[in-house]
Amino acid sequence: MKHTKRCPKCGSTDLICFVNNGFPNDSKIGIMTGVTIFSAVRVNRYICCDCTYTEEWVDQSSIDTLKQSKKGRPINE
Ligand SMILES: [Zn+2]
Repeated sequence: MKHTKRCPKCGSTDLICFVNNGFPNDSKIGIMTGVTIFSAVRVNRYICCDCTYTEEWVDQSSIDTLKQSKKGRPINE
């Protein structure tokens, strides 16, 4: 959705994006990587207005923070 600008479920192009899940940009209420909100990583949500499918993306710059968090669990290990 983020890259194709098209819904992967129904093919619609009627999409909207809520940056930081609609919270103010200076707040961090996405994924908690530590014990305080200061450790949170921002999440952007893409929504299909036709079938209501939603998809979430984090910024590439957040990946190191996410990988270093003890709360995350690698799937392929
Ligand atoms: Zn759709």
